[in-house]
Amino acid sequence: MLSTAAETTPLALLRQHWGHQQFRPGQADIIAAVLAGHDALALLPTGGGKSICFQVPALARPGICLVVSPLIALMRDQVENLRQRGIKAEAVYAGMSHQEIDQTLDNCVYSKEIKFLYVSPERLLTDLFRARLARMNVGLLAVDEAHCLSQWGYDFRPPYLRIAELRALLPATVPCIALTATATGQVRQDIVEKLHFRPGYGIFTQSFARPKLSYSVLHTEDKLRRLLEVLRGVGPGKTGIVYARTRRQAEDTAAWLVQQQLPAAAYHAGLPAEQRTRTQQAWLTDKTRIIVATNAFGMGIDKPDVRAVVHLEAPATLEAYYQEAGRAGRDGLYAFAVLLSGPADADGLRRQAQLAHPPVDVVRRVYQALANYSRTAVGGGELVAFDFDLGLFAETYRLRAVEVHHALKVLEQQGFVQLTEAVNQPARVQLISNQQDLYQFQVANAQHDLLIKALLRLYGGELFVTFQAISESALGRHLRQSTTDVVRQLRYLHSAGVLHYQPRRELPQAMFTTPRYDAPQLPLDERRLKTARQLTEQQTTAVVEYAASLTRCRQQLLLDYFAEPDAPACGVCDVCLARKKARQAPEDPAGLPAQLLQLVQTEPLLPRQVVARYPAAEAAAIMAALRALVELGKLAYAADGRLHTT
Ligand SMILES: [Zn+2]
Repeated sequence: MLSTAAETTPLALLRQHWGHQQFRPGQADIIAAVLAGHDALALLPTGGGKSICFQVPALARPGICLVVSPLIALMRDQVENLRQRGIKAEAVYAGMSHQEIDQTLDNCVYSKEIKFLYVSPERLLTDLFRARLARMNVGLLAVDEAHCLSQWGYDFRPPYLRIAELRALLPATVPCIALTATATGQVRQDIVEKLHFRPGYGIFTQSFARPKLSYSVLHTEDKLRRLLEVLRGVGPGKTGIVYARTRRQAEDTAAWLVQQQLPAAAYHAGLPAEQRTRTQQAWLTDKTRIIVATNAFGMGIDKPDVRAVVHLEAPATLEAYYQEAGRAGRDGLYAFAVLLSGPADADGLRRQAQLAHPPVDVVRRVYQALANYSRTAVGGGELVAFDFDLGLFAETYRLRAVEVHHALKVLEQQGFVQLTEAVNQPARVQLISNQQDLYQFQVANAQHDLLIKALLRLYGGELFVTFQAISESALGRHLRQSTTDVVRQLRYLHSAGVLHYQPRRELPQAMFTTPRYDAPQLPLDERRLKTARQLTEQQTTAVVEYAASLTRCRQQLLLDYFAEPDAPACGVCDVCLARKKARQAPEDPAGLPAQLLQLVQTEPLLPRQVVARYPAAEAAAIMAALRALVELGKLAYAADGRLHTT
């Protein structure tokens, strides 16, 4: 194929494949750096067009772009998305069979047309992968969700650390681009070091400010009532996300909102995949206005007109809060991010932080149980994924689910175990025998003839070449048989060596990332356990302070956390608004300042004593008003800290 220079400029590629006329702010600089062969760290807020930053240069450079990504759902979305734009892309992840992985990697070696190979990090250093990599013409290495590299981040994944080893296997001319939506200064530094960035690298950041997103914290003992007020206040017909901490809370809250005549639905990972898809679709198409979800919801979803994101409980980190809250107002119009905070919430967060670090003996017990559950012998099981049902697991081994959850997290962080989210994967089939053998089999086994014919009729000759997604129920309808019968026959044909059959699955996967240890010998790194505990404490403190702060602009507070210390006050958060209100002329007798002046005139009071005389929700406004009155010289502090009139 002839290609002119004009066709491969970044802008031409953008227009050709994405149909956008211009790059968004920041994108062009990042792309130029990568095309010049430099390593780059790109920090772009969610919804800021992150993937374009590596997809466009990948198309402009020769060879294939290797994309490391931790989330299967996200990976599959992107592959699907690229294919729809006429770009060939493949993915390799936990839950695929050995044959499938083998075949996909082979395609990437031999087909010059495949431009993207998405890989989950633990696959990177298998022998199979290394062997193929040596023969692959890699042009670019992209590391998505790069904060997973840092143990200072909020989602550390040890297999990410091995990307540096991967770099050593690639020619020195292959640049690396790392992308993330959130990273503190410490995490940025970590990414640059751990990926062995070469001199001349660039860090590209955009401000994390969201000028039209109004953050607020409502202190209340009655969260449901406040939730209702917020959702009604946003206006009818507007879209919202309510984040709950637990599945139960999500369901109960959704049911309650429906009782209150609000079109709401619950969404969490415990619901069947079909129901999740249906709920998500109803929300995306404005049929269900409000979704009440656990944090399983939102990843990879881009609905621009969300007007409010309300948290019933604070998430464990400000990173998570920023990401989730940031799903409001992607269209650039005014939107609300509201955190509902109850009197016991700070204690609750601290308790959870403690639970997140179970004692070492519990961790070992869960490791042993996992070995029993998966029937993995000592020394075996490395990178063999198995279906993992946490509820069933906990029940079988008489462990508490929450304990199991956290022990597995520890095992994951220490690099012994890997868990992947539930992925709704359709059943797949590939025919192993050639046409002639198959025909002979059909003649000799007439009872399977109809099913094989139906397979070929519905899915075509491609079945001889690669795995094809099939539907057991569609086959059943075609054959007027039950789905169970079809599954039974496919299983038989699989065991008879006629075809590879992978049943449909929607359970999360787990696997050992090292050969299995004898649990008492598991080499847990105690120092790292301690560091992890300290980090969790810091993160919890930051969240608690965010929720408790009455005097600092919330946008400023968040930006400061993400290494943007000098941001101006936003003017739209609850603290800024309270400050504005407090600056009403003290002469206005109906205004808050006038009331406060009167109160303090009667009796000098400490600021917190003043605050205590008003409803909790007013606290921020009171504090702001007091400060304004001091600045105006209407109030002053006495030596004992009490405020008095001047
Ligand atoms: Zn503000």
